[in-house]
Amino acid sequence: MNRRSFLKATSAAGLASALPSAALGHAWQEPALPSGAAPAQKKSPAPDSPERILLKDYRPKSIYKIPVTEVAKARFPIIDMHSHPYAKTPEEIAQWVRTMDEVGIEKTVILTMTTGAEFDEIHRKYSKYPERFELWCGFDFAGYDKPGFGPAALRELERCKQAGARGVGEIHDKGKGLRSGKSNAPGMHPDDPRADQLFEKIAELAMPISLHVADPIWMYQKMDKTNDGLMNAYEWRLDNQPNIVGLSGMVEILERTAQRHPKTTFVACHFANLDYDLARLGELFDRNPNLYADISARYAETAPIPRFASQFYAKHADRLVYGTDMGFDKPMYQVTFRILETLDEHFYESDQFGYHWSLNGFGLSDSILQQVYHDNAAKLLAARG
Ligand SMILES: [Zn+2]
Repeated sequence: MNRRSFLKATSAAGLASALPSAALGHAWQEPALPSGAAPAQKKSPAPDSPERILLKDYRPKSIYKIPVTEVAKARFPIIDMHSHPYAKTPEEIAQWVRTMDEVGIEKTVILTMTTGAEFDEIHRKYSKYPERFELWCGFDFAGYDKPGFGPAALRELERCKQAGARGVGEIHDKGKGLRSGKSNAPGMHPDDPRADQLFEKIAELAMPISLHVADPIWMYQKMDKTNDGLMNAYEWRLDNQPNIVGLSGMVEILERTAQRHPKTTFVACHFANLDYDLARLGELFDRNPNLYADISARYAETAPIPRFASQFYAKHADRLVYGTDMGFDKPMYQVTFRILETLDEHFYESDQFGYHWSLNGFGLSDSILQQVYHDNAAKLLAARG
């Protein structure tokens, strides 16, 4: 079943959850029939009936007359710790730099996930702006399942460092094993003894690592009318993947990996996908001084809980780093500033995010913003010497 037909099949449930029942005119749910009884013939709703609105097409507009804050530029200079080589041509890269100037991004970390000639090519493209971009390389997992794995991967790591790589990332493990762009290691998780040499080597080379474990909780849950992040979850679903390590198991692997390599600095991507359980991420921070988390691509996922989220920012302001992971358009940056800086309530950003819910700002204090926007990243990057 493709995405469209799935959404069609679930549209009734989706609509019911998105609209108050009064708007439907009647409850959608048919009363339960005695078994064996045939359902009564139903008239199909008119083409413009609310009953035909699909959840994926739902675009509500806020009705509230409340303050709307436009944040054109971030309040403090920013280091973006999670981006990718989105800009392909010299013109696009120049445009990106202009946008960074306009919105207040001092530096962007480009997670290339590549090694070899591919890394060198991306590095060459971005080398015109050494103060504005830094490039991180990937791992080469070739031969990871054969005896003798290691020396070649370590040599390539050293070569990438020589060629300009300042860190490693984004390395993924969504439950099936490690992946660095096109290089895969199915079944080898970050806490696997075979991976030890890589994590030790990057500490020796003073290269921090951006490590993405798991995915949001909704993607593991049943794709039904109770799934809070259904549309996004369905696009990236994991509930149909057999034999994968689940979210909780991956968080345990992340912690074991951080503990196995105390000299290595880990930046867990996207709040380690604990945006739904920030208290657990806080416990991870408390136990693991070498662990940071970036806040990239989880703005829409934390904006529904502004009070709890801002308390979390206050408590762990020394471990969170700003990131985007969402292209390089100006409005994208500005939405992140609005969520972090303002106390705006109940606003929609349907162009940026694929959820049906509204967003709220955290109103973070200046000192927290400075840490998250800049100072934590600056400290982490400066520690490389
Ligand atoms: Zn990313």
